[in-house]
Amino acid sequence: MSALTMGVIGYGGMGSYHCQTLIPAEPNVKLVGVYDIAPAQRAAATQAGLKAYATLDDLLADPGIALVLIATPNDTHKALAIAALEHGKHVMVEKPAMMSSAEFSAVLAVADKVGRQVFVHQNRRWDPDFRVVTAMVQAQLLGDVFHIESRIHGANGIPGDWRHDRAAGGGMVLDWGVHLLDQLLFLFPAPISRVQARLSHVLGNEVEDGCTVELTFATGLTALIEVGTTNYVKLPRWYIQGTTGTAFMRHWEQTGEVVVATGVETQAPAPIKAGVGLTKTMAPPTEGAVRHVPFPAPAVLEPSIYQNIVSVLNDGATPIVKNSEVLRVLRLMETIFAAAAAHQSLPFDAVPGQ
Ligand code: NAD
Repeated sequence: MSALTMGVIGYGGMGSYHCQTLIPAEPNVKLVGVYDIAPAQRAAATQAGLKAYATLDDLLADPGIALVLIATPNDTHKALAIAALEHGKHVMVEKPAMMSSAEFSAVLAVADKVGRQVFVHQNRRWDPDFRVVTAMVQAQLLGDVFHIESRIHGANGIPGDWRHDRAAGGGMVLDWGVHLLDQLLFLFPAPISRVQARLSHVLGNEVEDGCTVELTFATGLTALIEVGTTNYVKLPRWYIQGTTGTAFMRHWEQTGEVVVATGVETQAPAPIKAGVGLTKTMAPPTEGAVRHVPFPAPAVLEPSIYQNIVSVLNDGATPIVKNSEVLRVLRLMETIFAAAAAHQSLPFDAVPGQ
């Protein structure tokens, strides 16, 4: 099978990571060359032994490139994606795909017209911590999950330059919120009835430096999504409550606790002294009523996003990251901004009977 040939637009943090780490790890995928608008980044690419095109047109006109990755600031994705499609290339675009669902729909319409495909690099569906959470939910290790919290906390503020700028597509909802929402909706595809959101502006930027989002699903499941950049002490990456168990996971590495009910009949817990009071409600469970269990093995998600793209293009396989899912997450982020501005919860999917 001949290799999928790639050109990369944008040789900054993520573009260079694709070039140095992700693409070389993939069989059947070959990097042909890169283009960056900044001469210093083109020089860096050359120094790393890569072919750097002098202009965007040079890269797009190269018949030896089948797929173009767009790894530039978010406000440039749409125009670059359309230019690549109109040059007959397939396109892989970095998250958050586009600035809005309208932009993404416009790009998909061009792709339809020219008969080429668009893929979005929602890579965190493959994160090991998320794969373990998926295994826990799918195996019903905690019973029926009724509440899930997915957080990402840091204390470095908003990094870089364009991420501070609303017009460039900065802010933490588009930066990290998109990953957490994409994971959540991939795991729980049920309709979402209500959306509530708060954006934080602790650092005084024009864009939000964090967000707290509460989602209510039609199934009754509730979810909390939180991104913070001034969290000197982090809350756990995951906190999951099911009808017969609770789990938390500290960070990407899978440390934490999973505690499940044994189902064994035991005496009611004895009251304990707590602070200056007495409580039976909050006393530890009676011995034998619960047990700690290890995290399960990660649920397998195969193949890799790159190999999936190769199979979609060569054999008509189904994309793992579907554009309908990407569009839904973009719409959800729009609802999050609207709910935060209105200080009220807003409906999202049309839920029958509500
Ligand atoms: P960055 O600022 O480090 O790099 C962006 C690069 O694009 C710069 O080198 C800049 O010179 C270049 N550039 C800007 N406009 C251009 C244009 N019109 N044509 C060609 N080059 C142009 O930013 P980054 O952190 O690499 O982010 C780039 C994209 O990757 C964003 O969409 C971001 O959301 C995404 N990203 C994804 C992940 C992930 O895990 N999937 C991680 C980080 C960033």
